[in-house]
Amino acid sequence: MNRRYRKTIIAGNWKMNKTASETKVFLDELKGHVGRVKWCEVVVCVPYVDIPMALRALKDCRISVGAQNLHHEERGAYTGEVSAEMLKDLGVKYVIIGHSERRQYFGETDSLVNKKVHAALDAGLRPIVCVGESLEQRQAGITEELIVLQVKAALAGVPVEKMRQIVFAYEPIWAIGTGQTATSEQANEVCNLIRATIRKMHGARIARAITIQYGGSMNAGNAYELLAQPDVDGGLIGGASLKVPDFTAIVNAANQEQ
Ligand code: PEP
Repeated sequence: MNRRYRKTIIAGNWKMNKTASETKVFLDELKGHVGRVKWCEVVVCVPYVDIPMALRALKDCRISVGAQNLHHEERGAYTGEVSAEMLKDLGVKYVIIGHSERRQYFGETDSLVNKKVHAALDAGLRPIVCVGESLEQRQAGITEELIVLQVKAALAGVPVEKMRQIVFAYEPIWAIGTGQTATSEQANEVCNLIRATIRKMHGARIARAITIQYGGSMNAGNAYELLAQPDVDGGLIGGASLKVPDFTAIVNAANQEQ
């Protein structure tokens, strides 16, 4: 982390977990622990149907609400989909885009990710753009090329003045939900590569202001070391964000001197 230049963001990705009533119980408890935290931005990215309940539960505290996806068109005949404007109108602040589960199970491509980034920015939402390699790609030695490509594709056509709205999450696919975390060196190396790519595209001032999270089996035990890395500015947390003590411990691990 480098708090001098950028905000630390700890975001929970609930995936397809928790009903609206479970959301209320969970968030009422969570806000008692991290609702007033100032050393980082705390975000919960909840299922669409839980968003109104989450916003109600969190209205008097500092925790922000995010969505896990959106549709790239403004409106129209897209049965079952949700637009950026609909999320913004509710009071949502962040939206995860290009999570590997969406790429893998729903066929989302780099070009679709780019369209979604534009849709989010146009509506005033902050995209959390996920990039990351599979185990096969890492073993084949193509992590670097792949990450650079994913970052460049996600950012295609994004004007420099909107860049500071974007958050990146480096999420090695082999570390998501597996309990196999990247080492802090591996996490920092790729977060640094993402920053270097942004630097080449938009210059040093923008690059050093962008929050780049690590995600992949981050938990109470490994969060401190991962977050101590200079280019790791936060976490995108799946499993551990579903338990109040674990998520609270990760938020507390972000409270370190830099
Ligand atoms: C995620 O889904 O973004 C994630 C990082 O999951 P987990 O923390 O469970 O590996």
